[in-house]
Amino acid sequence: ETITVQELANRMAERGTDVIKALMRMGVMATINQPIDADTAELVVSEFGHNMRRVAESDVEFSIRREADAPEATQPRPPVVTIMGHVDHGKTSLLDALRKTDVAAREAGGITQHIGAYQVNLPSGQKITFLDTPGHEAFTSMRARGANVTDLVVLVVAADDGIMAQTVEAITHAKAAKVPIIVAVNKIDKPGANPQRVHQELLQHELVVEDLGGDVLCVNVSAKEGTNLDKLEEAILLQAEILDLKANADRQAEGAIVEAKVERGRGSVATVLIQRGTLKVGDVFVAGAEWGRVRALLDDKGNQIEEAGPSAPVEVLGLNGTPQAGDEFIVVDNENQARDIAEYRQAKLRQQTAATSGRGTLEQMFTQLAEGAKKELSVIIKSDVQGSTEAIRASLEKLENDEVAVRVLQAGVGAFNESDVTLAKASNALMIGFNVRANPQARDLARRDGVEMRYYSIIYNVVDDVKALLSGMLSPVV
Ligand code: GDP
Repeated sequence: ETITVQELANRMAERGTDVIKALMRMGVMATINQPIDADTAELVVSEFGHNMRRVAESDVEFSIRREADAPEATQPRPPVVTIMGHVDHGKTSLLDALRKTDVAAREAGGITQHIGAYQVNLPSGQKITFLDTPGHEAFTSMRARGANVTDLVVLVVAADDGIMAQTVEAITHAKAAKVPIIVAVNKIDKPGANPQRVHQELLQHELVVEDLGGDVLCVNVSAKEGTNLDKLEEAILLQAEILDLKANADRQAEGAIVEAKVERGRGSVATVLIQRGTLKVGDVFVAGAEWGRVRALLDDKGNQIEEAGPSAPVEVLGLNGTPQAGDEFIVVDNENQARDIAEYRQAKLRQQTAATSGRGTLEQMFTQLAEGAKKELSVIIKSDVQGSTEAIRASLEKLENDEVAVRVLQAGVGAFNESDVTLAKASNALMIGFNVRANPQARDLARRDGVEMRYYSIIYNVVDDVKALLSGMLSPVV
């Protein structure tokens, strides 16, 4: 399989002449329209500090993320937070209450724009960005599209209700993404509130709060009465400091689409969360399979602004189409380049829809793992009884050795549901069903996303299959 120098340059968003120069340094003399093979392309790609994925042997996909910034070029940036928790535990109320703690919002007299994310300016001058779509579904489906925008999760647990099914799901999803959790025990104003019980219950999910000698930050709040919101914000900033969040503001912007829609009179409008660089009016960009030129930028209060830096959520006008939530957003040098990349991706999307099954089948997972990128096999286990689930978990975890490990993302009882499928897709996990099936919604979703579910009724067979997978993951002995 080959790719021309020009196409390679386009997909990397680099200049053709620079690619030719890089090839020359490698001893390959090529012209702009000359085809080069995938191995050579890979060398060039790494030369430019990009990543390359071979989706299949016959296909080459490029990520146009640029190289990492030198540490000295980066400055601290505000944390980006997603709120998760069980339905009715107060996610929306908490988001609204936190929003009101913004010093600027108070002056503006409570005009609220809902653009999918907002930023709170604290009296100290520090900022926190909140994603406005609470819950793990949005979080994980963004992750499935490659967007890891959340730095930390605030897990809301109602003090009068305790840990419920979706609380557990939220914990699972946050852990799978390796995103730290801060607990907000909400509704402490209620007569039946029992925060201590919540702390105890969290232990069962390996979240040990500070009160009990652990390192999970936990704050008791009331979204309704506005109690301890400042303490929650302090905890978020403390966690952010531990994470040492930094970005280079002085470069072309990169980010992720948080939300996108078509609006009468405004055309396609997208909310972009800037992850690094500074986005300016007039910049040309690619967003997923769409492109555009920034005609106007608006902040979360509806103000027109000239530019937006790291961790800022900003509404972008000037798109030629509507991208999807989770798509990457990246500024490029000129319109030709933007158009080329967008056209390439659109063609790609058409191809993918034409070929029904996608990534994630066992063979593909196997090859991907064998290529050496990852030495960890993620699994989701569902069975009819807790005993079987635990037996399977224990047998699989025992397979661990120096080179490979099984990571159990989720182990539960009952049919596969949609949350399991999105998690599997986002984490490229193997779904193991023992004496259970998938519910119809989950089955449809899995079919659409090309996620493979495997069903078993004998534990020995589960272990055997996973063993086979793992042996494929072992590096060849040199
Ligand atoms: P969500 O489903 O998690 O987004 O929950 P909501 O924010 O919609 O809240 C569910 C219900 O709990 C609503 O009736 C809220 O008014 C109520 N609620 C939320 N936070 C508090 C709180 O701190 N105290 C009390 N008493 N009620 C609350």
